Amino acid sequence: MKEKIMQIVTKYDADRTRLMDILLDIHDMQGYVDDENIEVLAEALGMSEAEVNETISFYHFFTKTPRGKFTVYLNNSITAVLRGRDAVKSAFEVACGTKFGAVSEDGLFGLFDTSCIGMNDQGPAAIINDRIFTNLTVYRVKELIKGLKEGKKLNELVYESNGDGNNADKDMQSMVQNNIRKGMFLLNKDYNKYEILKEDLSKHSPEEIIQIIEDSNLRGRGGAGFPTGLKWRFGRRVDGEHRIIICNADEGEPGTFKDRVMLTEYPDLVFEGMVVAAYATGADIGLLYLRYEYKYMLKFLNRVLDEMREHNLLGNKILGIKDFDFDIRIQLGAGAYVCGEESALIESLEGKRGEPRDKPPFPVERGYLGYPTIVNNVETLASAVKIVKYGAEWYKGFGTKDSLGTKLLSVSGDCRFPGIYEVEWGTSIREVIEMCGADDVQAIQVGGPSGVLIGVKDVDNLGATDLMKWYKPSGMMVAQKIYDRKLSYSDLPTGGSIIIFNNSRDLLREVVMNFMDFFIEESCGSCSTCRNLPFVMKQKLEKILDGHGVRQDIDDLLNWGKIIKVSRCGLGQTAANPILSSILNFRGLYEKDVKAMTDFDNIFDIEKSVDAANKYLGRKTEFHHN
Ligand code: SF4
Repeated sequence: MKEKIMQIVTKYDADRTRLMDILLDIHDMQGYVDDENIEVLAEALGMSEAEVNETISFYHFFTKTPRGKFTVYLNNSITAVLRGRDAVKSAFEVACGTKFGAVSEDGLFGLFDTSCIGMNDQGPAAIINDRIFTNLTVYRVKELIKGLKEGKKLNELVYESNGDGNNADKDMQSMVQNNIRKGMFLLNKDYNKYEILKEDLSKHSPEEIIQIIEDSNLRGRGGAGFPTGLKWRFGRRVDGEHRIIICNADEGEPGTFKDRVMLTEYPDLVFEGMVVAAYATGADIGLLYLRYEYKYMLKFLNRVLDEMREHNLLGNKILGIKDFDFDIRIQLGAGAYVCGEESALIESLEGKRGEPRDKPPFPVERGYLGYPTIVNNVETLASAVKIVKYGAEWYKGFGTKDSLGTKLLSVSGDCRFPGIYEVEWGTSIREVIEMCGADDVQAIQVGGPSGVLIGVKDVDNLGATDLMKWYKPSGMMVAQKIYDRKLSYSDLPTGGSIIIFNNSRDLLREVVMNFMDFFIEESCGSCSTCRNLPFVMKQKLEKILDGHGVRQDIDDLLNWGKIIKVSRCGLGQTAANPILSSILNFRGLYEKDVKAMTDFDNIFDIEKSVDAANKYLGRKTEFHHN
């Protein structure tokens, strides 16, 4: 085994910053990395064993113990739950003869929960040895496990034909469906691949490209909405031996799957966007960080990169342009939502735990390996290509004054047509509901768990004054009819996740609880606020739902929701949003379970709650009593 591990280390030039790849290769080879392997790795890479352990322990898909010949990771996102996940989970347990979180005695099956795998429009879904199985039912699970016990191969057990479009490509052969419901200029088959690079790029100087992007007011589509042109201009100005373009394809927000579809159907467009960004900023190294859940695309995407190299669209002197050397490498993640945050993603790219960095310095000044680094989202880069092709004025013809262009929405939940919709910014909630065929709508989660839960009835002002500081400094939207609210940076910003809930759903017990579990699971544990408060808030909510709540509990939740905003990164800063936005828009659901006449609480023990959070994350919080 030592020899095989050394071969893998040598493949990566014994470069410790490639530790993620090395660990991924070892997992491919034997399914886990044990202490003996770690000792060999540490010595070969010039690291301590503790450092190797730190990286392994951070990611969901790394393990130090065997997880079965067939490892099942069953997605636990809310839409999977609403579509019968519990029954599917039980079916796996019965068929495999083991519980979730364990491996069967014969070592054949390991069953594990996992957060959203980007298949919300076709759940419940599972990853089994890197292959995706969608639309799982009890019957399908029985057949699947029976087949595996009989010695059949996973690809013989795909119970639906291959998915649509490139999902059926020979290098993908996946049963995943694109479910593209509406396209505009990004999801558009008229796109002639590489046309922009070959015909338009050299017509402009790098400065002119940046100016075009600035004039278009393109904003980052990952959620933060930072102006893309400005980011490119900053990146170009900073000196460095290398400059880096990173495409962030780590979409982990539950309910989001648009990048999966873009990379399946329009990978060329995304890679072209990286080349355009490299030309504009003078970057020479490109990295696409692909979430582990999309590993099934890796071979296909690498083939596209090879094609681009053959066309001299990557490599040295791209298109004959002097000094324009740029290439792209795909880096797989290993399962950690927080890696969607750009500095955490960079840490991960360097082979470390994906913990967010303190800022400043920002990545654009000092990012990957200390070089100036520009991190853009998949959708942002694809949009940039179209802007260079058709111009800033053309782009300004789409959207609203403060939110230009189009937005890819990942729509799922209680609707007849879940899938991907490309819409103009400014599209109203009413239009979204009509487009996706949703009836009897009770609530919509806009922007995933870190976004807002809105109701379809008029939002009233009940107790909302304080809360609006979190959402709308102006407070203007409090009394607006929800149907008329618009997807835009000034009203309802979204990274693209839209989840619909009908009136049969229990918003607090099912939805909010599920989202809080997600944040508890995904906290990296660095900040005491993010480590403890989601756990404590969830317990407080449970207390209310168990009928033991008092009025003070709601105020406590609101206050803790303010405190958590001091957390270092967006994960912690938004982790209270499921509770805060449900109090804002569904306060009646809380109040009906709260004891109306008493403000005295002798049940909730905060130290006990925090202790539970610490045990979960392996940390410790000290209490100081006056
Ligand atoms: Fe980690 Fe949470 Fe702090 Fe972000 S906010 S750095 S995820 S503990």
